[in-house]
Amino acid sequence: MIDQSTMTWKTEQVKNSFPKNVADAILKIPLSRRRMNDCWSWAYITNGYYTVKSGYKETRKSRNNLNERINHEDTNQMVEYKSLWKQIWSLPIPPKISFFRWHICKDILPTCDALRHRGLDIQDLCPCCKNETETMVHAIIQCNSIKDLWNSSGLPYVLEFDNNLSF
Ligand SMILES: [Zn+2]
Repeated sequence: MIDQSTMTWKTEQVKNSFPKNVADAILKIPLSRRRMNDCWSWAYITNGYYTVKSGYKETRKSRNNLNERINHEDTNQMVEYKSLWKQIWSLPIPPKISFFRWHICKDILPTCDALRHRGLDIQDLCPCCKNETETMVHAIIQCNSIKDLWNSSGLPYVLEFDNNLSF
């Protein structure tokens, strides 16, 4: 795949032998014109000989680059997250509704199930219907007494989320 007279890739042969993305990557590999024999070489040090020091240095550099990338992504997500919550908190609705919504989104609604998991010695049955465990989804959507409320609210489509909702 290398033309030995010009020390260049045989472009057509490479393109016919590999998928396009692989062929493109191969063709980007620079070829030496010095006609040296192939050998193993450590790319991160001038003489090509691996040392533990250079391996350690490269590993640290790679890890730092990865950490920077992760922190950058986390920062972007955090900015979006804060912006979203800023918008939510600034909606013109009663504070008790905002707090209730916040409890739901943070999954910290004090349902019987949640309180029982936190060590309180209580029944986890829903105090309204006494049929099922009072989880957050049950409390806000699945409980029969809540379903009636949703149906009379003009927002019955909320009940369609019943099977797909998870927190
Ligand atoms: Zn219930």
